[in-house]
Amino acid sequence: MKKKTRKYIFVVGGVISGVGKGVTTSSIGKILQSHGYRVTAMKIDPYVNVDAGTMNPTEHGEVFVLKDGDETDQDMGNYERFLETSLTRDSYMTTGRVYLSVIQKERALTYKGKCVQVVPHIPYEVIDRINHAVDKANAEIVIIEVGGTVGEYENILFLETARMLKIKNPDDVLFAIVSYLPTPSKVGEMKTKPTQHAVRALNSVGIQPDFIIARSDVALDEKRKEKIALFCNVIPESVISAPDVDSIYDVPVNFEKDKLGEKILRRLKLKSKGKNEGWKEWERFARKAHSVKDEVRIAVVGKYFDTGDFILSDSYLSVIEALKYSAIHQGKKAKLVWLSSSTFESLPATVSSNPSGANRRRQAGKNPPLAGLEEFDGILVPGGFGSRGIEGNLNVIRFAREHKIPYFGICYGMQLAVIEYARNVLGYKDATSREIDPKSKHLIVDIMEGQKENLEKGNLGGSMRLGAYEAVLEKGTIARTAYGVDKIVERHRHRFEVNPTYIEELEEKGLVFSGRSPSGTLMEIAELPTSVHPFFLGTQFHPEFEARPLHPHPVFSAFIKAVIARGKNTK
Ligand code: GLN
Repeated sequence: MKKKTRKYIFVVGGVISGVGKGVTTSSIGKILQSHGYRVTAMKIDPYVNVDAGTMNPTEHGEVFVLKDGDETDQDMGNYERFLETSLTRDSYMTTGRVYLSVIQKERALTYKGKCVQVVPHIPYEVIDRINHAVDKANAEIVIIEVGGTVGEYENILFLETARMLKIKNPDDVLFAIVSYLPTPSKVGEMKTKPTQHAVRALNSVGIQPDFIIARSDVALDEKRKEKIALFCNVIPESVISAPDVDSIYDVPVNFEKDKLGEKILRRLKLKSKGKNEGWKEWERFARKAHSVKDEVRIAVVGKYFDTGDFILSDSYLSVIEALKYSAIHQGKKAKLVWLSSSTFESLPATVSSNPSGANRRRQAGKNPPLAGLEEFDGILVPGGFGSRGIEGNLNVIRFAREHKIPYFGICYGMQLAVIEYARNVLGYKDATSREIDPKSKHLIVDIMEGQKENLEKGNLGGSMRLGAYEAVLEKGTIARTAYGVDKIVERHRHRFEVNPTYIEELEEKGLVFSGRSPSGTLMEIAELPTSVHPFFLGTQFHPEFEARPLHPHPVFSAFIKAVIARGKNTK
């Protein structure tokens, strides 16, 4: 019987973090897929957390939730989007996860009395996990991204794993280092030395890279290519220039211009099976992303933006991408503006109570930030936790509702839209969520049945309502029209829900729950009829995790449509 193809590509990072390993990994995957291979991708994160779910997004970026409910790293989202696939928890591991299973196996006597050691048992466990993920995905090639940067202590065991795998399968394992080449402004010349050091650090753990992906502001010139090749032990054609790009969708296209796919296949002793249709579609889309010039302006109001003196939008990466490609497909460029919800917190008592023109102008004088929202074609409040910035969000949502600015709320953004409605339409001034003020008389959003115990016992890791669940849609609503079907499956990550006690009252006063769990108990989508507001909709789930560049998500697309319509009307 012919031996099955099984090839491993390790992607590691050099010089700095955030250099684009995730997009590189995804792009290499996309290219090899386009050459006709079954490809999967995996992420190894070096931290001790068992998953990314307990980390603050400003520490770690977005928590990407898989269909099976695993709370993972944002790079997993890139893999799903580029490879147009859905991954499972088998494709994600952390130091904590690996150690946990080794310790559990030891307790179960799986090692049959052996002394269990960091090496080789941890690398063996990692190799088992990689092979298991490849089996499950029925893949021929797996790309494994090792988190962190070479030279640091944290990821050393994973590099040791890669080295061990290469020794046993010399023709089947390949290494790519994504490194950074700075051009210090005072020097004015692109510097290769940090990359040379990074490669040397990799050499010192027994690994010689096959490819060096050189990330820099501008393209690499021949001189620097040759220098890197000479000092890092590779031939010049293995040094791939990866300059900054406006659109990440260009990265695979640029790599292919450099024939990276063929070069990798040759190294792995494989042949191209001919470019597939999906590749042409990707190229068309990447081209279209460039051609759209006309902007729509969308405010994203959240709280996980600040890190020291810097603004980081990574916490909402999938939301941002989903907005961007929904807009591209409709011929527009989404200009996103990050607004910190806390800046909208303290407002005059009368604010936005009457959206008539005169009043609006007066408010503008008193409170420029809120009135400034009029400039946007749409407003989005993404998911979140805790009470910081919440009053600001509620003020923004009220403004969007009363001024008929298209509003899209995701998870917390949906819960807060319902709370805002209860406060200002139903008149429950103290309406809130148990998460914000458990003592309030009107808990419009309350803890889900089955979650109380988790909270009481402090069982907080991986215990939310996570992953894919079905919902049933109500005929004649924005949601039903957008999806075009009665039943949907979407990914969740929450502990609280719209309190069933208030549903009837909210509906009597005009709010429509257009999506519910199949049993009818959990409210999955809330919206206002289009006769009242052009687009006011919130989803309890996270549609951004199902959105794909080539297949934008129906609700994001419906939002963008309303955004474009407002843009036209206000011009
Ligand atoms: N904090 C809310 C809950 O746990 C919403 C969660 C979210 O936005 N992902 O229900």
